[in-house]
Amino acid sequence: MADLGNPTNTIAILNKYNFVFRKKFGQNFLIDTHVLDKIIRAAEITRDDFVIEIGPGIGTLTQYLCENAGQVLAVEIDRMLIPVLSETLSAYDNVTVINEDVMKLDLGDIIEQQRGEMKVKVVANLPYYITTPVIMSLLEKKLPLTSITVMVQKEVAERMQAQPGTGDYGALSLAVKYYSEPYVAAYVPPNCFMPRPKVGSAVIRLKLHERPVIEVRDEELLFNMIRASFNQRRKTLVNALNNYSEIAFTREEIANALKDEGLPENIRGEALSLEQFAGLANRLCKY
Ligand code: SAM
Repeated sequence: MADLGNPTNTIAILNKYNFVFRKKFGQNFLIDTHVLDKIIRAAEITRDDFVIEIGPGIGTLTQYLCENAGQVLAVEIDRMLIPVLSETLSAYDNVTVINEDVMKLDLGDIIEQQRGEMKVKVVANLPYYITTPVIMSLLEKKLPLTSITVMVQKEVAERMQAQPGTGDYGALSLAVKYYSEPYVAAYVPPNCFMPRPKVGSAVIRLKLHERPVIEVRDEELLFNMIRASFNQRRKTLVNALNNYSEIAFTREEIANALKDEGLPENIRGEALSLEQFAGLANRLCKY
C-alpha cells in the first residue's frame, strides 16, 4: 500500500471513499513523513512492542507502527473509516482494528488478554477534543504501559511540562509528573495535517515510572488536594481545601500541616511543587 504520509496518496484514498471529515471527531490527518518518522523514533518502537493506537484515521501512522511494532491495536470511533482501514492496512498481519470509542473500552482487559510478553505503548495523533481526559485516564488507570507518545496541541504539551507558579501549571502538570517523565520530541506546524488545524501541535512522550518516584500514603487524598487547589486557583490553599467536599480536614489542621511543612499559611496551591503537595498530604494523613 502506498505511503499515506505522502499528501497525494492521502487525497487519492479520501476521494476513492468520498470521505467527509467530521469535525466532532477531531479529524486532522498527518501528511508528513518526517513527522511520522519522528513519532516512531520518539516512541522507540521495536518488534517487542504491543502498540495501542487511538484514532488511526485512514491508517497513516498505523502503517508506520505496523512496520516497526510486534502487534498493533487501533481503536477508531468513526465507522466510515473502517472500510478505508481494511484497504490501507491490508498488507499487514500484525494489526487489529476495533470500531469503538476509546473512552468506553476496557483497555486493561484487552492488554491483559493480548500483550503476551510484549511491552505496551500508546502512540497516537490524538483527537484534540479529548486529549486531557484520554491522558488522565491512561495515567490514572495504572495500565501496564511503558510509554505514551502523543501528538497534542502545543499548548497542552506546555501544560503537561509546566512548573509551579506559572499560568500553565495545573492538575495535568502534576499528574504527568507523578506518573511519568515528559519529553517533547517535536513541534509540528499546521501544514503537516489535512485539514490544517488552527493551532500548532507537539509530539510529547511520557515515559511511565516503573515505581512511584514520590512517597505518598494516600494517593486519593493527594489528587483530591490537587483538584481542590486548581478548582479554585485564586484562593489560598487553606480556603480551597477547606471548601472542597471530598477533603474533611479543619482549617486548623490544614494550617498546622502547612506550618509543619515550612510553608506560609497564605500560600496558593499553584505555588506548590508535587513534592510539597505530597508532603502536605502525608502530614494530613496523620490527623
Ligand atoms: N492517526 C491519524 C493520523 O495521524 O492521520 C488520525 C488522527 S486524527 C487527529 C484523530 C482520529 O481519532 C480520527 O480518526 C477520529 O475519528 C478518531 N477519534 C476521535 N474520537 C475518538 C474516540 N473517542 N475513540 C477512538 N477514536 C477517536
